[in-house]
Amino acid sequence: MSYEPIRKIVIVGGGTAGWMAAAGLSKVMGDYPGLEIGLVESEAIGTVGVGEATIPQITAFNNLLQIDENEFVRETCATYKLGIEFVDWTRIGHSYVHPFGSYGLDMLGVEFHHHWLKAKSLGADSELDDFSLAVVAGKAGKFMRPQRDNPRSPLSKISYAFQFDAGLYAKFLRRRAEAQGVKRTEGKVVEVSRHAETGFVTGITLEDGSQIEGDFFVDCSGFRSLLLGQALGVGFEDWTEWLPCDRAVAVPCTLTGENEPLTRSTARPAGWQWRIPLQHRVGNGHVYSSAHMSDDEATAILMDSLDGEPLAEPNQLRFTGGHRTKAWEKNVVALGLAGGFLEPLESTAIHLVQSGIARLLTLFPTREFASATIDRYNAESEREYRDIRDFLVLHYKATERDDSEFWNYCRELEPPAGLTEKLAMYRTSGRVFREHNELFTETSWLSVLQGQGITAGGYHPAADLLDDAENLKRVAHIQHVVSSTAEGMPTQAEFLQANGSAIDPALRRLS
Ligand code: FAD
Repeated sequence: MSYEPIRKIVIVGGGTAGWMAAAGLSKVMGDYPGLEIGLVESEAIGTVGVGEATIPQITAFNNLLQIDENEFVRETCATYKLGIEFVDWTRIGHSYVHPFGSYGLDMLGVEFHHHWLKAKSLGADSELDDFSLAVVAGKAGKFMRPQRDNPRSPLSKISYAFQFDAGLYAKFLRRRAEAQGVKRTEGKVVEVSRHAETGFVTGITLEDGSQIEGDFFVDCSGFRSLLLGQALGVGFEDWTEWLPCDRAVAVPCTLTGENEPLTRSTARPAGWQWRIPLQHRVGNGHVYSSAHMSDDEATAILMDSLDGEPLAEPNQLRFTGGHRTKAWEKNVVALGLAGGFLEPLESTAIHLVQSGIARLLTLFPTREFASATIDRYNAESEREYRDIRDFLVLHYKATERDDSEFWNYCRELEPPAGLTEKLAMYRTSGRVFREHNELFTETSWLSVLQGQGITAGGYHPAADLLDDAENLKRVAHIQHVVSSTAEGMPTQAEFLQANGSAIDPALRRLS
């Protein structure tokens, strides 16, 4: 069999997406004979400049790149993340955590939460959070990596992500990508050339008149979507109907003490506010719906609720929730904001870049650009966006809040079909179903369904195979094991210090 291999990949854009693509592609394909990988970016245009919280899958990407985790944490001023604390989402004064990892211990082949639901029906007063090591340790400011040598201990199941400075992450990846042979060009793309007959992109022209040709283009140009959106005219599917937040204002502030390894999301009258503690500062942002709140009001809410001194002027951002109708068209694939954006409520944007790269490596094309390959890529990409969208919409839909027009809109919106089904399943039987290989697991769905006040309509009948007294005894024992395990863990600060990941104290911006 003979085929025409790709000779030159051109990545347009050097934000997180561009440098992740450059590092990932060069790591796996860099030694392919005759293959060149180039990246073009414009310092004058800059990057979006936010994007600090991640989900556990990022460890797989870092492993692919053979990144030393301790070095990475230090270099990106990162902290660890065990989950997201949602404050005031269900009702004002209420909070719960969406943890990484699992709850309790499955028994008799039945998920733990069915045993817990049964215990609740018998009068137990525990909360689901009490059975997650991530929640209990996270709230106590504790962290350690999983201890795989004792599979019976909850320590073996710790799952974690990072909160980092995305600008430093891009720089960190740039060093690796350049060492792996990626050639960077500084310059602003002013024109995109296309083949007269096929419409394929043949090259780009920079402001200084120089031209860069390629066989395959990776559009990482951010919201502009220079190649996929502008040059190839691929449309955008707008999901504002379900995800009404379309603005954000972001500002870093100084640290005020030691921080929990948790991202915090606090619901506000027309959206929500993030708080992401890093080693050198705290990232903050207010995501809101412009139909329900003015920019000035949103900025005032953010600035009035910082827990440290602001370190910059507030940075205003506009976006639309949704995605390009095709992530890959002809010889252009878009990664990052050029391909779509789902608001940062569950920290999924960097993950979408990573999974796009993984899919691209699996379906790496030849110069034939077979439509079966492209169609498969697009179908997987669209499914991933839809799955995440449904999970995000759950947070808005499942609320008791009726204190603003925004929350009334969200509470009353007609959810997408997939979410309707999941809500019905939990309401009728206490069951949580993970579709195909969707990103968010049963633990994630359960945490938000239960956390946001959806009442489980029952529990799995097999939970009755344990008699009532035995059920209460085992559930209480598991709660005790989780809390005593958390007690024995080091604090995050101790863990960072012990692993050589703590930053130079001079970099800490304290108020
Ligand atoms: P950008 O950072 O915008 O980079 C675009 C690149 O293209 C830049 O290098 C720019 O110079 C270049 N470029 C553009 N036009 C040209 C041109 N004409 N010529 C040459 N170069 C050009 N993600 C998370 O995972 N977690 C979070 O907590 C999170 N929070 C977010 C909060 C907000 C409010 C927003 C908007 C996003 C957030 N994200 C988050 C998303 C995250 O910031 C981005 O997904 C990620 O940084 C990737 O951005 P990007 O590289 O696609 O785009």
